[in-house]
Amino acid sequence: MTIVIDLPRNIAPALASEIEKESAFVSPYLERLKVASEMDSVAVELSDPSQETVVREKLDRFLGLMLRELPDFETKTFIHTERRDTADFETDVHRKMVERGWIHDYGRGRAALNGPALALLHYIDRTATALYHKEFAGAVERDFPALVDADLLWRCGYFDSHPNAVCFVGHVVEDFDAIEDFRIANADAEVVQMPPTEHIHMPGMCLNPAACFPCYPTMTGEDIEAEGRIMTWKGRVFRFESRNVSGLDRLWEFNVRELVFAGSDTFTADGRRRTLPLIEELAGRLDLECVVETAADPFFATISAAKSFWQLAQEVKNEILLPLGPWSDGSMKRMACGSLNLHGNFFGDRFDFKAGGESGFTACVGLGLERWVLAAFTQHGFDPGRWPSNVRKEIFG
Ligand SMILES: [Zn+2]
Repeated sequence: MTIVIDLPRNIAPALASEIEKESAFVSPYLERLKVASEMDSVAVELSDPSQETVVREKLDRFLGLMLRELPDFETKTFIHTERRDTADFETDVHRKMVERGWIHDYGRGRAALNGPALALLHYIDRTATALYHKEFAGAVERDFPALVDADLLWRCGYFDSHPNAVCFVGHVVEDFDAIEDFRIANADAEVVQMPPTEHIHMPGMCLNPAACFPCYPTMTGEDIEAEGRIMTWKGRVFRFESRNVSGLDRLWEFNVRELVFAGSDTFTADGRRRTLPLIEELAGRLDLECVVETAADPFFATISAAKSFWQLAQEVKNEILLPLGPWSDGSMKRMACGSLNLHGNFFGDRFDFKAGGESGFTACVGLGLERWVLAAFTQHGFDPGRWPSNVRKEIFG
């Protein structure tokens, strides 16, 4: 069954795409939501017509939030690199990489990279890391678990900002009969048999959804030395995307090159400022068009956001956007491939660490590595001749 709902105004393609994506979290009976090509209505497929009233009510609230007039703020652009490669953007890159055997797509948002795609991911990670170490002499290499306490995410405010993306880890309840039931059910089965829900226990553990979170408890009780602390690592990150999982642009599990600054207010602000030219250098080496600007996307996370949040957000979050080719209206489709964030002393307060006797400040820079790979192949295609020679040697051999 399909229902059509008129929108109060015509919307831009970027917002239409955002609405289609976030509609995955409206109702389990909502099969699909598609914005009409005229951009003035949505068509909604329901899996169960008897649920129409309930779904319509949720949809009204959802569309109201997504379409609310956000306070205008001026987007500041910090970086805009152009690419020298003048050929068209490649299309359908994920599928073409799967065909070449450069990606094994398991479905449900997990991908195994291989060949040039993997070589490029390593090149990007290695190059960013080298740039960080060159600029920041005191930066230390770290490693953190992907399995984190739910309490950690709660302290980080993640359940306020992205409750729909959380992934809990469960195990079979420590009960001889439940374990035996589970063993027997699978022993003779044709396909995997999951234990019944009442036999699954969730011990308050989650898969880490933002690379920097697990670093903060390691500083609890410390007073960070006056010169501050800089850490970098490659983190594995998990975000539940429901039916939005697609190619490398929207994975359930992906890799992030993370850089964290902890120290005084000026130390962390300075760290972010000094990282901007490094991102520019990275984009330049890959010959990528790249924009870094204040973040402005009206995503689900800001449901309860007041105007003050938006004013704050433009100061604290800078987004790295890599173009993927034109939308139907000619405007450029851009993918968020990372961000540079100032957290103030939020984490210093939540995890009780100080810098020079005051509550510690932090900042982080994260690069979504699979998205960088996708953007680079979209901007340069599969002909090695279009790639800058230093990168070509590294990835095509
Ligand atoms: Zn972070």
